[in-house]
Amino acid sequence: MASMVRHILIIADIEGSSGCWSRRGAVFLNREWAQACDGMSADVAAVAKSLLNDGVESITVNDFHRTGYNLLPERIPPAVKVVQGYQAGPVPGIGDPRPAEAAMFLGLHAASGTQGFLAHTLTSRLSDIRVNGRPLPEVQLFAASLAPYGLRSLFFSGCPVACRQAQAVIPQITTYAIDKSAGRTGFDADDWRAGLAASARDALHAAAPAMILPQGPLHTVVTFRDGPSPAKAVARRWGVERQHDQIRFVAADMRALYHVLIRICYLTPGIEKHLGWLLPLFNARGRLGMAWLRRQLRKHAPRARLADGPRAAPPAP
Ligand SMILES: [Zn+2]
Repeated sequence: MASMVRHILIIADIEGSSGCWSRRGAVFLNREWAQACDGMSADVAAVAKSLLNDGVESITVNDFHRTGYNLLPERIPPAVKVVQGYQAGPVPGIGDPRPAEAAMFLGLHAASGTQGFLAHTLTSRLSDIRVNGRPLPEVQLFAASLAPYGLRSLFFSGCPVACRQAQAVIPQITTYAIDKSAGRTGFDADDWRAGLAASARDALHAAAPAMILPQGPLHTVVTFRDGPSPAKAVARRWGVERQHDQIRFVAADMRALYHVLIRICYLTPGIEKHLGWLLPLFNARGRLGMAWLRRQLRKHAPRARLADGPRAAPPAP
């Protein structure tokens, strides 16, 4: 059956990808991170191929972990637009998502304060975040930010806890879990990835899921992992209420909530003021990391893949 959805936006993270099996796998310039990027790229490539084969006309992938430079574009079908680094614009980090009509979330993780694999919301410096008493997974922030542009959230992949959290906020969303509780040994990445790609394709043909948007006012309580001192700094910086290691504020809606969270997680008023030129600098750091990443992967790649790979050296004349 031909697909009804022509333009897809993929948000790709690393923690729930088939390449990341420990905290080090999510850390920039760590050797395990290089392996994680390899797996994440293969996951995205498999899903993209499957969607393109099913009649999707255009796919944009936003690389959405840490620096925004983790995916290896050369491993992903050339028809796919791979967007790396963070964009200013109406949707935080993404810019303008159009012409995408639907979103898919690959490699995501569970919310801060819950039991999932490398669970966190925006940054691991927050040990817990509650909105009207419930944990806040990133998928809720992202899906709510994309919804005003007409994007429906069709598909989600991550650990089983993360999948359940996605279904709690988007009840009909198709999910495909990766269970890392038994460790990497014996995990068949190719087999899992084939299932991921098939499940993403099926999501195109499922009924369009509706999202449960929490109604404002959104009473938000953020707990800092390192205790009162970072909470104090953030409270002073942004003029929000603090109690011990927690800050509290009320946001009118999800959009306002996302903006406040970005401020408290990543910015100071000074950085916010100069974001126009600091963002390209931040992105440049990510690009430099890609050079290191490619060297690592070449050094540790199995010979067979090096010989077949798109980056293999041409034969000597
Ligand atoms: Zn991440």
